[in-house]
Amino acid sequence: MPDEPIEGIPVSNTATPDTTGRAPDTAAIDVRDPATGRVVGRVTDHSAAAVAEAVRRLRARQPEWEAIGVRERAKWLRAFQDWLLDNGPRLTEVVRSETGKTRFDAAIEVPAAVDLAKYWADRAEGFLADERPRPHSPIGLAKRLVSTVRPYPVVGIVTPWNLPLLNPCFDAFAALLAGAAVLVKPSEVTPLSAVELARGWAEIGAPPVFTVLTGGGDTGRAVVDTVDFVQFTGSTRTGRAIAAACAQRLIPYSLELGGKDPAIVLADADIDRAAAGIAYGALFNAGQVCISVERVYVEAAVYDRFVERLVGEVRALRQGRDGRAFTHDIGAMATAAQCDIVTRHVADAVAKGARILCGGKAFGGGRYFEPTVLADVDHTMLCLTEETFGPLIPVVAVADEDEAVRLANDSVYGLSATVWTGDRRRGERVARRLEVGAVNIDDAFANLMSFALPMGGWKDSGIGARWGGAAGIRKYCRQQAITVPRGPALPREPLWYPASRLRSRLVTTLMRAVDARGRRRLPIPARRNRQAATTDTTRTHP
Ligand code: NAD
Repeated sequence: MPDEPIEGIPVSNTATPDTTGRAPDTAAIDVRDPATGRVVGRVTDHSAAAVAEAVRRLRARQPEWEAIGVRERAKWLRAFQDWLLDNGPRLTEVVRSETGKTRFDAAIEVPAAVDLAKYWADRAEGFLADERPRPHSPIGLAKRLVSTVRPYPVVGIVTPWNLPLLNPCFDAFAALLAGAAVLVKPSEVTPLSAVELARGWAEIGAPPVFTVLTGGGDTGRAVVDTVDFVQFTGSTRTGRAIAAACAQRLIPYSLELGGKDPAIVLADADIDRAAAGIAYGALFNAGQVCISVERVYVEAAVYDRFVERLVGEVRALRQGRDGRAFTHDIGAMATAAQCDIVTRHVADAVAKGARILCGGKAFGGGRYFEPTVLADVDHTMLCLTEETFGPLIPVVAVADEDEAVRLANDSVYGLSATVWTGDRRRGERVARRLEVGAVNIDDAFANLMSFALPMGGWKDSGIGARWGGAAGIRKYCRQQAITVPRGPALPREPLWYPASRLRSRLVTTLMRAVDARGRRRLPIPARRNRQAATTDTTRTHP
């Protein structure tokens, strides 16, 4: 059972700062601490008109932001990084207050955001630099080629509730450094942390190109209807709706969606480490992470030993609400609806013959769900096919590596996976057989903090990726190709009007000589060329 709720450390006044300049919307959303049910803040439910006005303002300020250049923009991000650190303890309390996380889970959000700010601030200039490719053919040597990037003016970022401070930072930093103005619409369940980010951006005196507008799904829809690029993190269902809306507007989008991440435990694994790593990978943030381990396939030879160790790990965990000390490992579920999904998945599995090895029920008025291990499960059960997003670990015995890979790939999702083995080369080999966007060998979540790698899902887990070097910032830009003449200009280029057989022949013969192979390089005899032109359809325009 959780500890008795301790009166929270007061969070800041959480009214959404009005950055739209219009008469404020009056509808409000109460934000609750899911661990206590207590209201911890209230934010505005912004209307479509407020979104349109905010986007209009951002659009007006963006050219100046773009014009100051990436080096100046990086200075602002560094100042923001300082602000994050200076306000770290308070921000962590805000995160905790609206999520019901443990201190341990909440404490990572600010340092991770700072780490990401440094990643982009140090590298954005290099990543955005013009490219000057060599022409692909000697004929092109007459031109100097420049490939440059220009930002989408306004990037809309719509985020979920599981990492309320980090989720907006994950994508806003790169978009801002690219030169875009950014509008964040955080989850209506946990908007307070994002509001703090907007407050921080204003406090450091940065140009007003970062706005947070709170609200529900309708506010999110209005964002999608007005911005120039949509970066969405959330459920696959909402992602599909956003993709359809973006298709109508012909605007680009990037989707980070749900997952059902498999863990594969091979017989040569360090079983103690695998059990500890999978317990953490499945239960961090009460299992409410897109890349949580949601199903485990264990080679039969080590199945019993692994399950015994895993259950030992899980039983030892302390669940409840932290006071001032780090006394718990697992916190609350973010919403009652999320708790209900876990309850439904356990009930479905048990009804179809699964065994609960530990945990198995909600408590604390539906605010918590016990960390749960299920055995005797198969792919007819929801717990192995649908995203749970909760503290549930179904474990399946498999005959061998091939069966583990087959079952791991038997999912509509393809976000990430873990492989546990004593042979790292084998781990890499297995990784390359998995249909997922990332594989961590002998670890969980390692890719989430490896910004040099892209993070993106395959199949129903998303489209596009975040981070991963230059691609992670260039995605917020439109490419622009520029050709510049070299040397003195001719009065006319050979292919300009009027049409001329001689010049046409000169150009096509040259192209043939450059591009063809062997004897095909030679020009076609003029006679054959003339025979091909049998009809004369010449018409002179007055
Ligand atoms: P959700 O899809 O219900 O909501 C996400 C956001 O979209 C919220 O801000 C919501 O208000 C907004 N929204 C809802 N309908 C909208 C619409 N039609 N148009 C625009 N915006 C709309 O997701 P959730 O329950 O908040 O988050 C949990 C989900 O997020 C899980 O599926 C999880 O796997 C996923 N997730 C994915 C990643 C990743 O990087 N792949 C990370 C975290 C969470």
